[in-house]
Amino acid sequence: MAKEFPTELLNKYYARGVELCDAETPMVCYCGRLATGLHTMHCSRFASKVKYKCKELAKAAGEVW
Ligand SMILES: [Zn+2]
Repeated sequence: MAKEFPTELLNKYYARGVELCDAETPMVCYCGRLATGLHTMHCSRFASKVKYKCKELAKAAGEVW
């Protein structure tokens, strides 16, 4: 099983991950609702996408976990 993605890496890439996800959802969130800042802050679908982007960014940067 894959190791849990460490919180410090998530924090490190979080802002960039949110930026990428925001760019992919200019109008509608991944869950189908309107992608307002207030919504995406509390949406679990959006949050899991951000985590996925953080993993990709970390991998691309050569981070190991
Ligand atoms: Zn959503």
